Order: sequence, then structure tokens, then C-alpha cells
Amino acid sequence: MDAALGPPEQMAELEEDLTPMMAQYYELCRQYDDALVLFQVGDFYEAFCAAAKRVARLCEITLTQREDSTGEYPMAGIPIDNAESYVETLLDAGYRVAIADQVEDPDEVSGVVERAVTRIVTPGTLTESELLGGADNNYVAALTEGERYGLALLDISTGDCYATSVGSAAAVADELSRFGPAEAIVGPDVDVDRDAVFGPACLVTRYDADAFGRERAEDRVAQYFGPPERLLASNAEIRACGGLLAYAEYTRGSSGAVGPDGEPVDADVDPAGTLDYLNHLTRYDPREYMLLDAVAVESLELFERRSVRGHENRTLVDTVDETACALGRRKLTDWLRRPLLDADRIEARHGAVAELQRDPATREALSDLLAEVYDLERLISRVSRGRANARDLRSLAATISVVPDIRDHLADADARLLADLHATLDPLTETREEIESAIRPDPPQEVTEGGVVREGYDEDLDRLRSTEQSGKQWIDDLEASERERTGIDSLKVGHNSVHGYYIEVTNANLDAVPEDYQRRQTLKNSERYYTPELKEREEEILRAESAADDLEYDLFCAVRDEVAEEAERVQALADRLARLDVLVSFAEVAAQYDYCRPTVGSDGIDITAGRHPVVERTEDAFVPNDTHLGSGPVTTSGDGSDAEVPAQDPFLAVVTGPNMSGKSTYMRQVALICLLAQAGSFVPAKAADLPILDRVFTRVGASDDIAGGRSTFMIEMTELATILDAATADSLVLLDEVGRGTSTADGLAIARAVTEYLHDEVGSHTLFATHHHDLTAVAADLPGATNRHFETSREDGDVRFDHELAPGPAAASYGVKVASMAGVPESVVERSRGLLAEAEAADAGVEGSTGTEAKTTGDSDTDAAPTATTGATENGTAAASADEGPADDYRQEMLRANGAAEGELPESVAQQLASLDVATMTPIEAMNALADLQDRLQ
Ligand code: ADP
Ligand code: MG
Repeated sequence: MDAALGPPEQMAELEEDLTPMMAQYYELCRQYDDALVLFQVGDFYEAFCAAAKRVARLCEITLTQREDSTGEYPMAGIPIDNAESYVETLLDAGYRVAIADQVEDPDEVSGVVERAVTRIVTPGTLTESELLGGADNNYVAALTEGERYGLALLDISTGDCYATSVGSAAAVADELSRFGPAEAIVGPDVDVDRDAVFGPACLVTRYDADAFGRERAEDRVAQYFGPPERLLASNAEIRACGGLLAYAEYTRGSSGAVGPDGEPVDADVDPAGTLDYLNHLTRYDPREYMLLDAVAVESLELFERRSVRGHENRTLVDTVDETACALGRRKLTDWLRRPLLDADRIEARHGAVAELQRDPATREALSDLLAEVYDLERLISRVSRGRANARDLRSLAATISVVPDIRDHLADADARLLADLHATLDPLTETREEIESAIRPDPPQEVTEGGVVREGYDEDLDRLRSTEQSGKQWIDDLEASERERTGIDSLKVGHNSVHGYYIEVTNANLDAVPEDYQRRQTLKNSERYYTPELKEREEEILRAESAADDLEYDLFCAVRDEVAEEAERVQALADRLARLDVLVSFAEVAAQYDYCRPTVGSDGIDITAGRHPVVERTEDAFVPNDTHLGSGPVTTSGDGSDAEVPAQDPFLAVVTGPNMSGKSTYMRQVALICLLAQAGSFVPAKAADLPILDRVFTRVGASDDIAGGRSTFMIEMTELATILDAATADSLVLLDEVGRGTSTADGLAIARAVTEYLHDEVGSHTLFATHHHDLTAVAADLPGATNRHFETSREDGDVRFDHELAPGPAAASYGVKVASMAGVPESVVERSRGLLAEAEAADAGVEGSTGTEAKTTGDSDTDAAPTATTGATENGTAAASADEGPADDYRQEMLRANGAAEGELPESVAQQLASLDVATMTPIEAMNALADLQDRLQ
């Protein structure tokens, strides 16, 4: 156990004898033994003993000592004023932090001030915006295991709550990867591989079994959301939600909350209503949305990765984010996270985007108005938790006040979603008027020191303020009247915080001081006095001021409570504004970056001039490419005879081409285009007819996924097994260099078997990028498969990747071609061509029969053979060189030195050369291999 957690050992020995304050600290550490306790002492949060040492080191603050009658204790103090950044450091180090505030006014109690844990800050339950890194959601997850896995997710800062259930641990991981929770709690019965399911960055805790028990869970769900059996689909879901709510209560210090060990923790703050804004639960079935498995979310770089702070790679969500407010940003992430499967709903979004895209003026006006929208979800959650100040209320009112203008701009909208928004955006007029009439326009941060409530709002308050004012006026006038009465021209009236108001007379004029002056303070050159009347006035001012401050605070709280009553309406408004913001953002991106409106619901994928939305922003000249993939599987004539089968568009394409030619980019772009379309966005292409995909799978071959660190062949195969098991004819499967993690021969065997299975049994839309040239023959064999390759060309002596997809397989010799273009000596290139030709001839002997079949299956002509241009150039070059014979002096010299016959390479060099896998080498590896070959020749 971490020594920084739990009751300090040093204190345990003298538990009975501790001073009252240290006894309090000790007791809180005992109760909250899974958190670092930060204990308020005046303006600091202190930690003691082992915890102090840890805090001092992590936060780089000085370790000091506290000495009392019982001994010396190491102590480290965090200034309360900027506690946030220190707390963040502690969270980063993997701690929960229990904040123990003074809950009594030190001036009003004799003896030790009472302290209580008012909240527990954990990575997944942060609510203060400073720590939340802007607009993104911050989720905590809860998992239970029964017949199925129950999963619940909650963003405490916004009140977003989701629940679902799935059948396998892998599916749990998939769902979690959509949400990227920072923290998770698990029920007593959960037995999963933590890292595989939650990822290494997620703080996972096993939480109190009772809270996950059916009965308790039902009660909690009922208390917050309503009847559990109507809202949720399974026992596991109810238990997950219940456990999660219990945990939320625990971190909020609500009464009746229980700690991780099931012990009730006794928090003193009033919890009534603290979590009231948690009133809406979204139960969803993963099958209602396009399924994105964990690997796809990662490899398509959809969202920011929590695990990597400061990770600069542009994500899809960043790329298509032109939202104006935080609400919109979160909704955008949500839509991309859960692309729709329902053509009507998708088309409704497209319709709204189309209308906004056509109308730049409306779009811009709406965007400007939405930019004035504050983070309503977090505001209303602060209001409900009693943590909102007067500024928050004014921000809320300011946001509500733009609603009528927004509605005006939607008055003529035709698109269904826009018309709906026009009809349902709720201007919350009374709430806005109440705030505007009660709260001053530019109120102070503090709500207990006055200056918050407007004049004219409350008669009693106005009376108190006017008493205060007239008293102050009387004092302002006092200087003049006293000068006149006493004849002392230098007489001054002043105020200081210790002594209050005084009349100051310099020593030279002491003679003229009247009798009713009472001495208050003696200074070096002057005396300060008060008069009974001044004292009386002063007291009157103070009384009025303090009564007014108190009254203002009460009035403020009443307004805040009234606003809290409308939490659900405010949340509904927030949701609608968020939707509008996303639609406007989609339209803005479409207009700015030339996206087109896709159609959805076709059988195949038909994309004209598609682009990768993220790469096209960073690449100066992005080359668009087409995609035509039909739907599978192959329809055969039922009786097994050779009867005519209607021609079918290939649905599986093997994509070949050297490294860096654009294979991975191309495949991902197809997935991203489909995903954007189903999320309701336009897509980066000239035209797109798309199916509705039920799932997108991606698998990236082991050695291609260095950053992810998932580089074992075993993982690759496990993932492959999932795909073959779960993919359907409506799925898109992207296989990128699968089979690379093992030797060429069995890698190829696996790749081939997978291809055949996907083709024959599953029929998914499939793209398979591979450097295994032999796979192109497989594609040529299968009626539903086709070959595509990336062209390379030569420019000014350099190899150039055209990034242009062409029909047919890459020439078998593309590696050799690249080597030649890169300036490998011609003799070496020649020899490798020779070897390649031998190898092909040998293969042809073995596979002759399949080769002939391929030509008779009716596969498109272009696919059956390598492209004519490539082939011709290659033969031409080879022939010419052979005729001319060796021309190069350098080469002749080398050959002589090796004593080899002219035109022949030493056997060892040839062997080594033949074994090089040029397509997969990095430039450095190629250079080294070349240098090595040269060494051998010399
Ligand atoms: P491969 O998977 O074939 O090795 P990648 O897809 O990783 O190749 O692409 C390599 C690089 O080429 C990318 O990082 C990108 O910068 C660039 N690229 C890829 N596709 C295109 C394209 N269509 N147009 C312009 N540049 C591209
Ligand atoms: Mg690649």
C-alpha cells in the first residue's frame, strides 16, 4: 500500500494523544484511505507525514515541519488560491485527492475548526473547468459482469450519462474506446484484463460491492432518472448505473455516500440537490450505431488520445470542427463517436447541412450568435450543485438572450431538422428576466460580499443600502463641517480597517480640539479622535452593510435555486443549441473545403475523387482517388452448375504498391468518408454513393503500428479472428499489411486464407493493402476481388510517388523499379530482374492452372494483368541493357576484382540481393544493404 495514503503511521502510535486538529486529520485519512487528503489550515491545504513528502516532491514545493506538544510532523502546504494546478499534478501522478475544507468560520468557534471532505477530485469526476482542458467530455465509467457486461458512463461536469450492455470483454473495450474515460470503477464480479479493456491510462478501482447490488442500484437509478426497468435493458446495466451514481455521490461528498470499501463516509456538507442535474440517462444499444472497435478508433485517429498528453497529431474531430461553442464541440465528438445506421436520420442531417451550406449569410450569422453561447451544460450543473456564482448566472442569462435571434434566423428554414429547432428552441424568458432583474450586469466573483443584487429588486435591500449610503454621505460631509466648527483647516476624516473612522488633528492644532472628541489613536505627528455621533453613524453603516450583504446572499441563493428548478429545460436548450452548432459546423467545413453531399443506402461504395480529410490539410497537393467496391458475397447459381452468374462488382480489392505510395492513407480515407457521412456530415469527395456500414474494422500489421506498441504477432492474429467472426456483408474491413509480423511464407499463407474467407464467407467491403505481391494472384483468382496499385514515376532522377491509384496489381518488380530509380547500380538492378524472372517462371509452373482459371472468371480485363505501361517499360529496359552489355567502368573494375565472369555477379551477392524485401525497407536500411553488397564485390 502506498504510504502516502491512509492514516499516517507516525500518528497511529499516539492516536489518543494527538492534538484535536491532528486527530481530525488522522480520522479523515482513515476514512478516505484511497485518496490523498488535503486538509485546510487557513489559506493552505496541508498534507502531513508520508503524504507531505509525496506532495512536496510531486508538486515541487517546500517540505516543512509542524511542531506541537506531541512531536514533529513533516508538512507540505498548497496555497488554496492556486490549488487547481497542484491538484492536477497529483491526479496525473495517479492519485485521487480528498479536499477537506474548514466548514466552520474560525472567527465564530472557540477551539478547533471543524473540517469535512467536500469533494473528492478524481480524473474521471473533475468538474471545475480549469482542469478540464476545454470543451471535451470527461467520463468516468462503471462496469459490471453478469450474463452480459453492463456499462455506464457519466460526465459529472455536464450530467451526460449513458448506459449499455454488451456480450464480451472485447466489446466493452470497443465501447470504452468511443468515450475514452479517464477513470473506471468495476463491480465485485468483474474479471477482465484491465489493460486490454480499459487501456493503461485509465485509473481503475474496484468499488463497493453493495453499491453494485441490484436493490441499492435500483433505488439510486429510480431516485435520479426514474423507473429502472423502463429505462434500462438488463440487470447488468442497472447495477452499473447504480454503482456509478454511488461513486458520483462519494466524490461529491453527498450524505449516505459510501467509500470504496463500503464504509459510509460522513461528509458534512449539505448534499441536498448536489447531483440533481443528473436527471437524464441515455440508454443505447451499440447496434443502433456504426460499430467502431477500439483498433479502428485508434488507427483512424478519430479522437484525441487521453493517454498521450500534448499529442499533436491532428485528429478527425479537430479537422472537421468549426463549431462555435463548447456544447457544439462535445456534440460533434458524440456524433462522430456514434455514426447512425438509420438512413432517414442521416439524410435529415444532410438536408440541414445542405441548406446551411447554400446560405453563407445565415450560416455566418448563426455561427456568430453561437459563439456567444456559454457552456450551458456545465453552468447548469454548477447551478444545481450550488457552486455557481453571480457571474455564472449572468453568463446563463446572456446565453439565453441569444435564443430569440437564433430562432429568427431559422424562421424560413425548409430542412426538417432546422424547422424543428426553430419550433423547439426554448427562450426561457422568465428565467432570463429573473436573472437580469436580480443580478447586476458585472457582478464580483464573491457572492457573500455584496455588489451582486441590483437596485430596485428588493425593497428591504434598497432601504439597507440607502441607510449605508446616507451614513457614508454624512461622513463624507463631516470633514467640512468639523473644519468649520473647530477652525482647524488641516483637520481630516479618514478610515482604516482596524480602527474604523476617525478625525485626525496634527499636533500643532491639539489646542483647538473640542471637548466631545475622544482619543482613538496616537501617531507621531497627530492624534486621531472620534465623536459619539461618528461612532454611532459608523455602527449604523456597518450594521446596514452587513445586513445588506447577508440579504444579498440570500436573494442570490433564491434566484440560483429558482434557476436550478429549470435545469431540465436548460439542458434541453443546451442539447438543441449543440445540435445546431454541429450542423452549422458541418456546413461550414463543406463550404470551406469543398465537401459533397453523399447519398446513403446504396449496395456498394462508389466514391469519385475521394480525399483523406486530415492528410489533405497537411499535404500541399493531395491526389484524390476513386473507390468502387460492390457488395458481397458472390452470388452463385444455386445448383453448383456453371450457369451464367450475373456480373458482379468486385467488393474486395487488394492494394499493392511500394512503401510510402499512399496505401494506408487511401484505405483510411474510405473509412473516414463513410463514417463522416453516417455522422451526418458532407464528405471530402466530388461525389459519393455510400452504403450504410454496420461496422468498420481496421487491422494494422504488427510492424506498421509502432506508436501503438501493439506489436506482437499474437495480438494481430487475435484481432484478425475477431474480424472474421464479427464482420458482415455490410461491414467495411481494412487490412493493412496483415501477416507482416511473421516470416514471408506463413505471413502470405495467412493473408491468402483471410482474403479467401472474407471473399467466400463474409462478403464485406474489403480493402487489403499488402506488400505480398503474391496476393495479387489471389485477387485475380476470385470473382468478387480485384487488384489496385499505386503508381510511381521518375522525375529529375528521383523516385516520385504519384499517390494515384490505378487498376491492376503493381508490377512484381516494383521494388526493383524503385531501386533502379533510387540509383542502385544498373548491374545490380539487372541481376535482380533476372532472379525475379526465374522466380516468376518457377511460380508459373506450379500455379499454372489457377492462373488460367483466373482469366476465365470474367474478372475485369484490367485486373487480370499488370498494367501494360509498367510491363513494357520494364521489358524494354531489361532488353536494351542486355544487348548493350556492361558499359560502366566502375562495374567492370568491380567484377575484375572479384574474378567473376563478365556479366555475372558472385553467388553470395546475388543471394543476398534476392533476399532483400525492398518494398518494406526504410531508406537507411536500403543504403546499408547496398553498402554491404558493395563491400562484398570489392
Ligand atoms: P503506404 O501505406 O503505401 O506506405 P502512406 O499511406 O503511409 O503510404 O502514405 C505515405 C505518405 O504519402 C503520407 O504520409 C502522405 O503524406 C502521402 N500521401 C499519401 N496519400 C497521398 C495522396 N493521395 N496525395 C498526396 N500525398 C499522399
Ligand atoms: Mg502503410
